[in-house]
Amino acid sequence: MRRNAIFFRRIYLAVTLISCVLQPLTFATSTTKSPYTLKTVVIDPGHGGKDSGCSSPWKTKEKNVTLAIGLKLAEVLKRNQYKVYLTRTTDQFVSLPKRVQLANKYPPDQTLFISIHCNAHSDRRIHGIESYIFDLLPTDEHAATLAKRENAEAEVDLIHFIESSLHKRGSEKFSWDAAKTTQSILVSKLNVKDRNVNAPDGAVKRAPFRVLADTKMPAILIELGFLSNRSEHGQLTSSKRQQQIAEAVALAVKKFDQQTHPQ
Ligand SMILES: [Zn+2]
Repeated sequence: MRRNAIFFRRIYLAVTLISCVLQPLTFATSTTKSPYTLKTVVIDPGHGGKDSGCSSPWKTKEKNVTLAIGLKLAEVLKRNQYKVYLTRTTDQFVSLPKRVQLANKYPPDQTLFISIHCNAHSDRRIHGIESYIFDLLPTDEHAATLAKRENAEAEVDLIHFIESSLHKRGSEKFSWDAAKTTQSILVSKLNVKDRNVNAPDGAVKRAPFRVLADTKMPAILIELGFLSNRSEHGQLTSSKRQQQIAEAVALAVKKFDQQTHPQ
Protein backbone atom coordinates (compact mmCIF):
# COMPACT_ATOMS: atom_id res chain seq x y z
CA MET A 1 0.00 0.00 0.00
CA ARG A 2 2.76 2.38 1.11
CA ARG A 3 4.99 1.37 -1.80
CA ASN A 4 2.09 2.12 -4.10
CA ALA A 5 1.67 5.57 -2.59
CA ILE A 6 5.38 6.33 -3.05
CA PHE A 7 5.23 5.10 -6.65
CA PHE A 8 2.20 7.28 -7.40
CA ARG A 9 3.90 10.27 -5.78
CA ARG A 10 7.00 9.80 -7.94
CA ILE A 11 4.88 9.54 -11.07
CA TYR A 12 2.98 12.63 -9.99
CA LEU A 13 6.18 14.62 -9.49
CA ALA A 14 7.54 13.44 -12.84
CA VAL A 15 4.35 14.50 -14.62
CA THR A 16 4.37 17.88 -12.88
CA LEU A 17 7.98 18.49 -13.88
CA ILE A 18 7.42 17.50 -17.50
CA SER A 19 4.26 19.61 -17.60
CA CYS A 20 6.15 22.65 -16.33
CA VAL A 21 8.68 22.34 -19.11
CA LEU A 22 6.19 21.87 -21.92
CA GLN A 23 3.59 24.40 -22.95
CA PRO A 24 -0.07 23.42 -22.54
CA LEU A 25 -1.02 21.55 -25.68
CA THR A 26 -4.75 21.99 -25.62
CA PHE A 27 -5.61 25.49 -24.51
CA ALA A 28 -4.33 28.60 -26.19
CA THR A 29 -2.67 31.05 -23.81
CA SER A 30 -4.05 34.54 -23.80
CA THR A 31 -4.11 37.12 -21.07
CA THR A 32 -7.01 39.13 -22.48
CA LYS A 33 -9.56 36.51 -23.49
CA SER A 34 -10.54 33.24 -21.86
CA PRO A 35 -9.32 30.37 -24.01
CA TYR A 36 -12.38 28.40 -22.95
CA THR A 37 -15.91 28.87 -24.34
CA LEU A 38 -18.49 26.36 -23.20
CA LYS A 39 -20.72 25.03 -25.97
CA THR A 40 -21.04 21.31 -25.34
CA VAL A 41 -21.73 19.28 -22.22
CA VAL A 42 -20.92 15.57 -22.19
CA ILE A 43 -23.05 13.86 -19.54
CA ASP A 44 -21.74 10.55 -18.28
CA PRO A 45 -24.36 8.56 -16.34
CA GLY A 46 -22.19 6.23 -14.26
CA HIS A 47 -22.23 2.44 -14.75
CA GLY A 48 -24.88 0.58 -16.83
CA GLY A 49 -25.66 -2.92 -18.08
CA LYS A 50 -23.64 -5.57 -16.26
CA ASP A 51 -22.03 -2.85 -14.12
CA SER A 52 -24.75 -1.85 -11.62
CA GLY A 53 -22.55 0.46 -9.54
CA CYS A 54 -23.39 0.54 -5.86
CA SER A 55 -26.70 -0.69 -4.51
CA SER A 56 -28.89 0.24 -1.60
CA PRO A 57 -30.40 -1.81 1.23
CA TRP A 58 -33.67 -1.23 -0.68
CA LYS A 59 -32.27 -2.90 -3.82
CA THR A 60 -31.97 0.28 -5.89
CA LYS A 61 -29.10 0.12 -8.37
CA GLU A 62 -26.88 3.15 -8.87
CA LYS A 63 -26.88 2.70 -12.67
CA ASN A 64 -30.65 3.37 -12.86
CA VAL A 65 -30.52 6.53 -10.76
CA THR A 66 -27.55 8.00 -12.67
CA LEU A 67 -29.29 7.36 -16.01
CA ALA A 68 -32.59 8.89 -14.88
CA ILE A 69 -30.84 12.05 -13.64
CA GLY A 70 -28.53 12.18 -16.69
CA LEU A 71 -31.47 12.10 -19.11
CA LYS A 72 -33.28 14.84 -17.18
CA LEU A 73 -30.12 16.95 -17.07
CA ALA A 74 -29.73 16.57 -20.85
CA GLU A 75 -33.23 17.97 -21.41
CA VAL A 76 -32.66 20.97 -19.15
CA LEU A 77 -29.28 21.78 -20.73
CA LYS A 78 -30.71 21.57 -24.25
CA ARG A 79 -33.37 24.09 -23.25
CA ASN A 80 -30.46 26.32 -22.16
CA GLN A 81 -29.01 26.14 -25.69
CA TYR A 82 -26.10 23.84 -24.92
CA LYS A 83 -25.18 20.95 -27.18
CA VAL A 84 -25.50 17.79 -25.13
CA TYR A 85 -24.12 14.29 -25.55
CA LEU A 86 -24.60 11.33 -23.23
CA THR A 87 -22.13 8.47 -22.92
CA ARG A 88 -25.17 6.19 -22.61
CA THR A 89 -28.93 6.71 -22.99
CA THR A 90 -30.11 3.21 -22.04
CA ASP A 91 -29.19 0.51 -19.53
CA GLN A 92 -26.13 -0.54 -21.52
CA PHE A 93 -22.58 -1.33 -20.48
CA VAL A 94 -20.05 1.25 -21.71
CA SER A 95 -16.46 0.74 -20.56
CA LEU A 96 -14.63 3.62 -18.86
CA PRO A 97 -12.08 3.91 -21.73
CA LYS A 98 -14.98 4.03 -24.22
CA ARG A 99 -16.65 6.83 -22.24
CA VAL A 100 -13.39 8.79 -22.38
CA GLN A 101 -13.08 8.12 -26.11
CA LEU A 102 -16.65 9.35 -26.72
CA ALA A 103 -16.02 12.54 -24.73
CA ASN A 104 -12.67 13.28 -26.38
CA LYS A 105 -14.37 13.61 -29.79
CA TYR A 106 -15.48 17.08 -28.74
CA PRO A 107 -13.20 20.15 -28.61
CA PRO A 108 -11.64 20.35 -25.13
CA ASP A 109 -11.78 24.14 -25.10
CA GLN A 110 -15.56 24.10 -25.71
CA THR A 111 -16.68 21.10 -23.68
CA LEU A 112 -17.44 20.21 -20.07
CA PHE A 113 -17.56 16.56 -18.94
CA ILE A 114 -19.85 15.68 -16.03
CA SER A 115 -19.83 12.16 -14.64
CA ILE A 116 -22.88 11.38 -12.48
CA HIS A 117 -22.73 8.92 -9.59
CA CYS A 118 -24.31 8.00 -6.27
CA ASN A 119 -22.50 6.97 -3.12
CA ALA A 120 -23.03 4.16 -0.61
CA HIS A 121 -21.61 3.40 2.82
CA SER A 122 -21.90 0.60 5.37
CA ASP A 123 -22.86 3.26 7.92
CA ARG A 124 -26.39 4.23 6.86
CA ARG A 125 -26.21 7.55 8.71
CA ILE A 126 -23.63 8.94 6.30
CA HIS A 127 -25.12 11.32 3.74
CA GLY A 128 -24.38 14.36 1.59
CA ILE A 129 -23.02 15.48 -1.75
CA GLU A 130 -19.46 15.45 -3.08
CA SER A 131 -17.84 16.95 -6.19
CA TYR A 132 -14.52 15.69 -7.50
CA ILE A 133 -11.77 16.54 -9.93
CA PHE A 134 -8.94 14.26 -10.97
CA ASP A 135 -5.83 13.84 -8.90
CA LEU A 136 -3.51 10.86 -8.49
CA LEU A 137 -3.46 11.59 -4.77
CA PRO A 138 -6.91 11.25 -3.20
CA THR A 139 -8.11 13.89 -0.74
CA ASP A 140 -8.75 11.34 2.01
CA GLU A 141 -9.38 7.66 2.71
CA HIS A 142 -13.03 7.87 1.64
CA ALA A 143 -12.02 9.42 -1.69
CA ALA A 144 -9.45 6.65 -2.22
CA THR A 145 -12.01 3.90 -1.52
CA LEU A 146 -14.59 5.59 -3.68
CA ALA A 147 -12.24 5.92 -6.67
CA LYS A 148 -11.33 2.25 -6.31
CA ARG A 149 -15.01 1.29 -6.44
CA GLU A 150 -15.88 3.60 -9.32
CA ASN A 151 -12.78 2.37 -11.21
CA ALA A 152 -13.62 -1.30 -10.52
CA GLU A 153 -14.01 -1.97 -14.21
CA ALA A 154 -10.83 -0.18 -15.39
CA GLU A 155 -8.08 1.33 -13.26
CA VAL A 156 -6.16 4.48 -14.18
CA ASP A 157 -3.56 3.57 -16.80
CA LEU A 158 -0.43 5.50 -15.78
CA ILE A 159 1.06 5.73 -19.27
CA HIS A 160 -2.18 7.08 -20.70
CA PHE A 161 -2.46 9.36 -17.72
CA ILE A 162 0.97 10.88 -18.26
CA GLU A 163 0.17 11.45 -21.92
CA SER A 164 -3.24 12.97 -21.29
CA SER A 165 -2.04 14.98 -18.31
CA LEU A 166 0.11 17.04 -20.67
CA HIS A 167 -2.93 17.76 -22.82
CA LYS A 168 -5.11 18.43 -19.81
CA ARG A 169 -2.80 20.84 -18.04
CA GLY A 170 -4.59 23.93 -19.30
CA SER A 171 -7.99 22.60 -18.26
CA GLU A 172 -7.27 21.95 -14.57
CA LYS A 173 -8.30 25.39 -13.40
CA PHE A 174 -11.59 25.06 -15.26
CA SER A 175 -12.25 21.63 -13.75
CA TRP A 176 -11.68 23.07 -10.29
CA ASP A 177 -13.97 26.04 -10.97
CA ALA A 178 -16.70 23.78 -12.38
CA ALA A 179 -16.56 21.42 -9.38
CA LYS A 180 -16.53 24.28 -6.86
CA THR A 181 -19.49 26.01 -8.49
CA THR A 182 -21.45 22.78 -8.87
CA GLN A 183 -20.89 21.75 -5.27
CA SER A 184 -21.92 25.13 -3.90
CA ILE A 185 -25.08 25.35 -6.04
CA LEU A 186 -26.15 21.77 -5.30
CA VAL A 187 -25.69 22.28 -1.57
CA SER A 188 -27.66 25.52 -1.49
CA LYS A 189 -30.42 24.66 -3.99
CA LEU A 190 -31.04 21.13 -2.75
CA ASN A 191 -30.41 21.87 0.93
CA VAL A 192 -28.13 18.87 1.38
CA LYS A 193 -25.03 18.22 3.46
CA ASP A 194 -21.80 19.54 1.96
CA ARG A 195 -19.26 16.72 2.20
CA ASN A 196 -16.54 18.79 0.53
CA VAL A 197 -16.01 21.08 3.50
CA ASN A 198 -13.09 19.03 4.80
CA ALA A 199 -11.24 19.08 1.47
CA PRO A 200 -7.81 20.75 1.91
CA ASP A 201 -8.82 23.75 -0.18
CA GLY A 202 -12.28 23.78 1.40
CA ALA A 203 -14.22 23.24 -1.78
CA VAL A 204 -13.26 20.43 -4.11
CA LYS A 205 -12.32 16.81 -3.48
CA ARG A 206 -9.75 14.95 -5.54
CA ALA A 207 -9.34 11.29 -6.46
CA PRO A 208 -7.86 9.17 -9.28
CA PHE A 209 -11.08 8.46 -11.19
CA ARG A 210 -10.43 6.79 -14.52
CA VAL A 211 -13.01 8.81 -16.48
CA LEU A 212 -11.49 12.06 -15.26
CA ALA A 213 -7.88 11.00 -15.87
CA ASP A 214 -8.04 10.72 -19.63
CA THR A 215 -10.72 13.23 -20.63
CA LYS A 216 -9.00 16.21 -22.22
CA MET A 217 -11.63 18.82 -21.38
CA PRO A 218 -12.52 20.23 -17.94
CA ALA A 219 -14.07 17.26 -16.16
CA ILE A 220 -15.87 16.69 -12.87
CA LEU A 221 -17.49 13.77 -11.10
CA ILE A 222 -20.43 14.35 -8.80
CA GLU A 223 -21.64 11.98 -6.11
CA LEU A 224 -25.23 13.08 -5.67
CA GLY A 225 -25.99 11.38 -2.37
CA PHE A 226 -25.89 8.06 -0.53
CA LEU A 227 -28.20 5.28 -1.67
CA SER A 228 -27.42 3.62 1.67
CA ASN A 229 -29.07 6.47 3.59
CA ARG A 230 -32.85 6.09 3.91
CA SER A 231 -33.67 9.75 3.39
CA GLU A 232 -31.30 10.32 0.45
CA HIS A 233 -32.39 7.02 -1.10
CA GLY A 234 -35.98 8.29 -1.04
CA GLN A 235 -34.90 11.54 -2.69
CA LEU A 236 -32.61 10.02 -5.33
CA THR A 237 -35.34 7.64 -6.50
CA SER A 238 -38.05 10.34 -6.64
CA SER A 239 -38.67 11.63 -10.15
CA LYS A 240 -39.54 15.09 -8.80
CA ARG A 241 -36.29 15.27 -6.83
CA GLN A 242 -34.29 13.96 -9.78
CA GLN A 243 -35.69 16.87 -11.81
CA GLN A 244 -34.65 19.33 -9.08
CA ILE A 245 -31.14 17.83 -9.07
CA ALA A 246 -30.96 18.12 -12.88
CA GLU A 247 -32.04 21.75 -12.72
CA ALA A 248 -29.50 22.54 -10.00
CA VAL A 249 -26.66 20.96 -12.02
CA ALA A 250 -27.79 22.86 -15.13
CA LEU A 251 -27.78 26.11 -13.14
CA ALA A 252 -24.22 25.31 -12.04
CA VAL A 253 -23.20 24.72 -15.67
CA LYS A 254 -24.66 28.09 -16.63
CA LYS A 255 -22.89 29.85 -13.77
CA PHE A 256 -19.59 28.14 -14.59
CA ASP A 257 -20.05 29.23 -18.22
CA GLN A 258 -20.59 32.86 -17.13
CA GLN A 259 -17.57 32.73 -14.79
CA THR A 260 -15.27 31.69 -17.61
CA HIS A 261 -16.20 34.92 -19.42
CA PRO A 262 -16.50 37.62 -16.74
CA GLN A 263 -17.81 40.96 -18.00
ZN1 LIG B 1 -20.64 5.17 -9.33
